[in-house]
Amino acid sequence: MPLVQLIYVSSACRELSDEELDHILESSIRHNTQQGITGVLLYTNGSFMQVIEGEEAAIEETYSRICDDDRHKDIFLLSKEAIAKRDFPRWAMGFRRLSRGEFESHPAYAPFLPDGFDAERIGAQPGVATEMLRQFSGA
Ligand code: FAD
Repeated sequence: MPLVQLIYVSSACRELSDEELDHILESSIRHNTQQGITGVLLYTNGSFMQVIEGEEAAIEETYSRICDDDRHKDIFLLSKEAIAKRDFPRWAMGFRRLSRGEFESHPAYAPFLPDGFDAERIGAQPGVATEMLRQFSGA
């Protein structure tokens, strides 16, 4: 079965506490480990960007569950493509909560983060989502 990489951005329905983010992460790690999925989740200022990688059927099922989750909204699919090998093999789900200071130390990404992740600007620049996910996760 082919490997697929999927990246999306979304908005939290409200500013989430560390405890709520921990619950999302625990659940993601539990499910993703069972399904052979790896990836990274970034959160800043009420906004998510996530990459998930794995076999196509597992990615479809997981993304559909993620889309049904009412803790976030305005889910915008940035890319979904077949890959020969994983870009983010290290974690069942890596996670970073990013502060404004971290963006300021990467001014090249400022246009994509005016107030959380800007789906349209990120989507208009192929490759930048993967770069940001790599840069900010340390993958
Ligand atoms: P559990 O993990 O057992 O749920 C634990 C607790 O979380 C519940 O008791 C409840 O309080 C709360 N909860 C669960 N679902 C919801 C909900 N829809 N709305 C409000 N509260 C809820 N899942 C993955 O498998 N892989 C991922 O990579 C992944 N990434 C995510 C990224 C984001 C930004 C978000 C918001 C969710 C993500 N999830 C992911 C979680 C996914 O959307 C489902 O919530 C999860 O798979 C449900 O698992 P479960 O039924 O085992 O519930």
